Amino acid sequence: MLTLSNTYSSLPDRFFARARPTGVTAPRVLAFNHTLAAELGLDARALDSPEGAEILSGNAVPDGLAPIAMAYAGHQFGGFVPQLGDGRAILLGEVVDRRGIRRDIQLKGAGRTAYSRGGDGRAALGPVLREYLVSEAMHALGIPTTRALAAVATGDRVHRETALPGAVLTRVAASHIRVGTFQFLAARGDVEGLATLADYVIDRLYPALRETPDRYLALLKGVADRQAELVARWMHVGFVHGVMNTDNSSISGETIDFGPCAFMDVYDPATVFSSIDQGGRYQYQNQPGIAQWNLARLAETLLPIIDGSTEEAVEKANQTVVDFASTFQTAWLAGLGRKIGLSDIRDQDGVLVQSLLDLMQQDRVDWTTSFRRLADCVRGDDVPFTTLFDDRAAVARWLMDWQARLASGTPAEPEALASRMDRVNPVYIPRNHLVEEALGAAVQHDNLGPFEALMAVLAKPHDDQGPAQSRFAEPGPNDARPYRTFCGT
Ligand code: AMP
Ligand code: MG
Repeated sequence: MLTLSNTYSSLPDRFFARARPTGVTAPRVLAFNHTLAAELGLDARALDSPEGAEILSGNAVPDGLAPIAMAYAGHQFGGFVPQLGDGRAILLGEVVDRRGIRRDIQLKGAGRTAYSRGGDGRAALGPVLREYLVSEAMHALGIPTTRALAAVATGDRVHRETALPGAVLTRVAASHIRVGTFQFLAARGDVEGLATLADYVIDRLYPALRETPDRYLALLKGVADRQAELVARWMHVGFVHGVMNTDNSSISGETIDFGPCAFMDVYDPATVFSSIDQGGRYQYQNQPGIAQWNLARLAETLLPIIDGSTEEAVEKANQTVVDFASTFQTAWLAGLGRKIGLSDIRDQDGVLVQSLLDLMQQDRVDWTTSFRRLADCVRGDDVPFTTLFDDRAAVARWLMDWQARLASGTPAEPEALASRMDRVNPVYIPRNHLVEEALGAAVQHDNLGPFEALMAVLAKPHDDQGPAQSRFAEPGPNDARPYRTFCGT
């Protein structure tokens, strides 16, 4: 029913530990991603079934599979932890998808591994569904991300602050190798291991670099470019990852680990949701700087294989880390330009964008709604956009500047321009109150209706799905309490 290979386990033994999922009492498929299964060439009918639930919960491991837990280290909130690893995730194996890309299939919450330390290796239903929902929403928004193939209830309880229903998430990634995977080897002075890992990564994730002379430096640059693009895209949709530790920073450039993440409603650059992020280290506006910091940690691990001379290696790697800032800035501005309908970026566009952001911040407008409604102005009705702001005179001035800029660019039919904007400005994002409502119904009442309804709307985030779905587009109630999220999938 599930045939997988495992190239990662052909790497040296010290990179991983063999792992067997621990059985559960009563597995039941709650959500299954048929579209993704087809993309992966998996037998969806067989997996989305009681027999499939046995495999997707870890109760049964198909013959021929040799599951492992991957070793990694990581900086958590800036402090280095030399030994982490998959403590509640087990890599079942890999599948080559319909496009020829090798993807990891991992069970998250399938029991303890050699790296579990004090943890139980389990996941609670709420966080599993949260990751399922938000990762699939990210994908629909066109943002690189790990995917969710299935969520399976275990029939067992997991003990957190209270007893909660348990679940297992089947996660799919281009690879689960993280900055922390390199740090694990670097912390042990394992230069040979670093070269082996880097070659594996190049071969699997950056095949265009195979023949490049300075290939380890090129790899660092490749990771820098993907991370810059990724974080820019997060910023464009108001996504706050919440726990950008180096062990949650993917070498493939996918969004990974959806623990305390959330989308911002009102535009506030200092937005932070995670209850454990007390210093606001991972607040919205810090994300590019943190990504660069994480890249510097990756660069450090690669120094011994970048150049025999430490001085040379430092200089080359450092330049790549420094360049990240401008790569990010370019990607960020290009995306914001697209959001306001610009087809190219000119000198003064940064100022034009920033003045809009300043107005949005000052008047505490909803990020998603305001960008979406800007297209109404192109269609001839300014009111839906301007009513979002308190300072009407300032917003009218901005609209005039913006319209002058549009007029000086490539001429476009208003409807063509407006629909181009609609394709980058979603109507629907996973609003915090909607996510809470969906998870609450599932966890407290075993009712997956709201989860499925929300998933259906978020599958086409840029298409206005009409008045019947309008409540999914609205910002949350203006609650006095700030929204809080918690770690622990
Ligand atoms: P995360 O916050 O999900 O990035 O996890 C950080 C580290 O803690 C990873 O090495 C996880 O595998 C480990 N971990 C988190 N929760 C558990 C758990 N319930 N049981 C075992 N290990 C865990
Ligand atoms: Mg993690």
